Amino acid sequence: MKVTLLSFTPDPEKTIALAAKLCYSKSNIDQLEAKVRGTAYKRLLEKIVKIGHLSVLEHAGFVFGIEGISRVTSHQLVRHRLASYSQQSQRYVSFEDVLEAVTPSSIKKAGLGLKFSKKIASIHKFYKEMINAGVPQEDARYILPNATTTKIIVTMNARELLHFFALRCCERAQWEIKEMATKMLSLAKGKAPIVFKNAGPGCVKGPCPEGEMTCGKPKEIRAKFKSI
Ligand SMILES: Cc1cc2nc3c(=O)[nH]c(=O)nc-3n(C[C@H](O)[C@H](O)[C@H](O)COP(=O)(O)OP(=O)(O)OC[C@H]3O[C@@H](n4cnc5c(N)ncnc54)[C@H](O)[C@@H]3O)c2cc1C
Repeated sequence: MKVTLLSFTPDPEKTIALAAKLCYSKSNIDQLEAKVRGTAYKRLLEKIVKIGHLSVLEHAGFVFGIEGISRVTSHQLVRHRLASYSQQSQRYVSFEDVLEAVTPSSIKKAGLGLKFSKKIASIHKFYKEMINAGVPQEDARYILPNATTTKIIVTMNARELLHFFALRCCERAQWEIKEMATKMLSLAKGKAPIVFKNAGPGCVKGPCPEGEMTCGKPKEIRAKFKSI
């Protein structure tokens, strides 16, 4: 899988700090902008994130390009409603030339990797047969498996990203979306290190919120996400 940060709000952390300052100040916006220049915004931003005044984080947006994930994972991703998506169409794009698929490592470990790829190849053969017989792409795609790879552009604001990372970087999430979310976190943190300092599964900020579903290794998980 390939995850790219395509664009983001310029100076995302200053923009958030400016919005926060506006809430508590008599000054006009030009004066406030001067107050968040340089590194002056950092302490305020740390406080805002700590106290959970998270609505101001919605002013910073991040656009990710994601390729080579399965339709299993894109389906899980688009359940997150506070985001914008553009996904490669299986109606308008033909898969006649090549049908790429994600093979989970558990299938390979079970010694079934070859059988899995043969099944994919046979599905692909039938897909092409249908297209050649005049079946429209939009109907031929009904045979395509969940493993089929897809491309998607996702836009989320920083508040939704924190929520998304809490759910999808957790050990309870499936390996593929967890891998994707962790790559997104690393890219977002590179641009907004204060906002995403404690981003990741719930246990990064405090006790594990998963109750009896806990993975039981919060120390290890905390160390992993602190070092990202
Ligand atoms: C480990 C795991 C297992 C899962 N298993 C299943 C499963 O078996 N079956 C299944 O169907 N789904 C499953 N899901 C998906 C899950 O139910 C959510 O649909 C998905 O995680 C999106 O989360 P969300 O609704 O919190 O977030 P988002 O859609 O990203 O929304 C963010 C937040 O905005 C608020 N919000 C958004 N829309 C509304 C609304 N309409 N009304 C009120 N508040 C709103 C909520 O506070 C929400 O938490 C699973 C998710 C995880 C992480």
